[in-house]
Amino acid sequence: MLNLQTIHKPKTLDQALRLAREPDTAFTAGGTGLISEKRRAVRAVIDLSALDLAFIETRGEDIFIGATTTLATVADSPLLREIADGVVAQAAHRTHANILRNQATAVGTILSEPDGIFSVALSALDARLTLATLKDSRVENGDVSLTDLFAQRGTRLPNSIITEITIPASALARRGVIETVARTPRDKAIVSVCAALEMERGVVRAGAIALGGVAETAWRARDVEREMLNQGLSDDVIRRAAMAAPSGLNPRGDFRGSAEYRIEMARVLTARALREVAK
Ligand SMILES: Cc1cc2nc3c(=O)[nH]c(=O)nc-3n(C[C@H](O)[C@H](O)[C@H](O)COP(=O)(O)OP(=O)(O)OC[C@H]3O[C@@H](n4cnc5c(N)ncnc54)[C@H](O)[C@@H]3O)c2cc1C
Repeated sequence: MLNLQTIHKPKTLDQALRLAREPDTAFTAGGTGLISEKRRAVRAVIDLSALDLAFIETRGEDIFIGATTTLATVADSPLLREIADGVVAQAAHRTHANILRNQATAVGTILSEPDGIFSVALSALDARLTLATLKDSRVENGDVSLTDLFAQRGTRLPNSIITEITIPASALARRGVIETVARTPRDKAIVSVCAALEMERGVVRAGAIALGGVAETAWRARDVEREMLNQGLSDDVIRRAAMAAPSGLNPRGDFRGSAEYRIEMARVLTARALREVAK
């Protein structure tokens, strides 16, 4: 539990970032993570919900999801249901129960569950994030890919606010498939795989394979992605891709599944996803 004494509700990014300079503060979006927050030191939260960051829109051919857009809105978005066979909308729908999806936000979910199915689907579409920070007392916007953010900065961003997620136009040309394994259909996925490939007459021209539940954050099987370029998805190509997808990973086992089970499932689900893309 937090030792919570103050809730700020700033109306501008500038105000929010200034408040974050105070010690013992943390951002909150949907706020559902506060229930399990263990940092006793946090005495004030900065609620991001009045910053006008709840939207789904296109600019040019790119698609933008505002940071505080709820998972329910993402899941129901006609636009996102179209992109790459709707993998991002499906992933939002499969994250949490209905009541929590109405409150939990897109960015809050990425940061709380970096290896979860929503992060995996976004990673497979090469999603990027816009990060607002204060530099010389002015708000500056930076841009970072989801995978680089996890690799370089982790999931605690005390002095930056993620304002939006960009799904680049390249996603429009991709076929997308998500495969998961869970103890029950409504339970959190133990392992998830999202394949999002651009196909031309049966040949892979571009795309990505992202895995969840096998590393601390969504994992891109980049060697496999390179190997598959300009190849047809024959049984042999799929078998080799599936074997190699979790190479070098050493997942942590838990009550949902052991490390060995996770590696094996990553292979099975990669093969399933690629067979589905090839249909
Ligand atoms: C019943 C219940 C079940 C849950 N089950 C799970 C589960 O299975 N797995 C799991 O991982 N979590 C779970 N949670 C925790 C949490 O609710 C979810 O992960 C949820 O998706 C977080 O979304 P949120 O918008 O509420 O995030 P918040 O709680 O508002 O924020 C989460 C974190 O992200 C930061 N943050 C949020 N938005 C931004 C932004 N725009 N810029 C910078 N930092 C930001 C916050 O500072 C905080 O550290 C559960 C919670 C409840 C109440």
